[in-house]
Amino acid sequence: MKLPLNTDLTGKTVVITGAGGVLGGMFAKALAQAGGKVALLDLNQEAAEKAAKEISEEGYIAKGYAANVLQKESLAAAHEQIKKDFGLCDILINGAGGNNPKATTDQEYYVPGELKEGEKSFFDLEQSGVEFVFNLNFIGTLLPTQEFAQDMLEKEGCNIINISSMNAYTPLTKIPAYSGAKAAVSNFTEWLAVHFSKSRIRVNGIAPGFFATKQNRELLFEKDGTPTPRTGKILAATPLGRFGESEELIGTLLFLLNNEASGFITGVVIPVDGGFQAYSGV
Ligand code: NAD
Repeated sequence: MKLPLNTDLTGKTVVITGAGGVLGGMFAKALAQAGGKVALLDLNQEAAEKAAKEISEEGYIAKGYAANVLQKESLAAAHEQIKKDFGLCDILINGAGGNNPKATTDQEYYVPGELKEGEKSFFDLEQSGVEFVFNLNFIGTLLPTQEFAQDMLEKEGCNIINISSMNAYTPLTKIPAYSGAKAAVSNFTEWLAVHFSKSRIRVNGIAPGFFATKQNRELLFEKDGTPTPRTGKILAATPLGRFGESEELIGTLLFLLNNEASGFITGVVIPVDGGFQAYSGV
């Protein structure tokens, strides 16, 4: 990959959660190439190890670890091993997250009498499904930060990057838990930036627009791969008229991690969205 910016992370320990996934895996590749020692954490250990292996085979430093961002003990165990392998954490990317069908309504609008047999309405959403999605995105950002930011208190130039979403600005239809959770992630980014300001840890976020990946596939494509009507709406509401490519997040990531370029920036969430957030639809 040709890195769009020259950010030197040589010697820095980078921890990325959800790194077995599409975006996290791309972040890992880029940050290893920038010189970082990259710890790829994922609930899916096999996916994290596979992504790490690909990076190592290209001559960069990376290792996969099993970790559940919702379990303190699991994070602590991964942390112990990372300290032995790479030393104290300098950079944490909170990438694990996503939506789930259990927290998704089948209809955009509740119109009495229009619900078809078997469809899930707002009234059918189960607390457990809503809690699962809310926790994965919000608690799954908070717990890894509690774990890995401890290392940063002893170091200089440390950074935390949270991954928010377009849902944080204006909720998308059907996915109330994911929308609320990402709004919480953006809010928490600001809160943490203030909280850690005297500890000289910068905390920023990236709000990706629409990138076709595993976690949103069911909403964007039918089983046979044809685009859903929702995909048409998304593209119509994205002035640049296309989905983003995951590589297009890397420039913003490298900028936010570059202490010379963005050393006075903390508490911002940058949309990388082809103009989606700026467009009123008219
Ligand atoms: P993805 O599904 O490809 O990757 C998510 C990864 O998180 C998976 O590998 C999964 O195994 C892992 N994960 C799930 N639960 C976990 C847990 N409890 N502990 C540890 N790991 C866990 O999704 P992605 O599109 O690469 O999304 C990455 C981040 O970007 C997410 O926070 C997502 O909400 C956000 N995001 C994605 C888009 C998009 O268009 N793809 C847009 C906005 C925001």
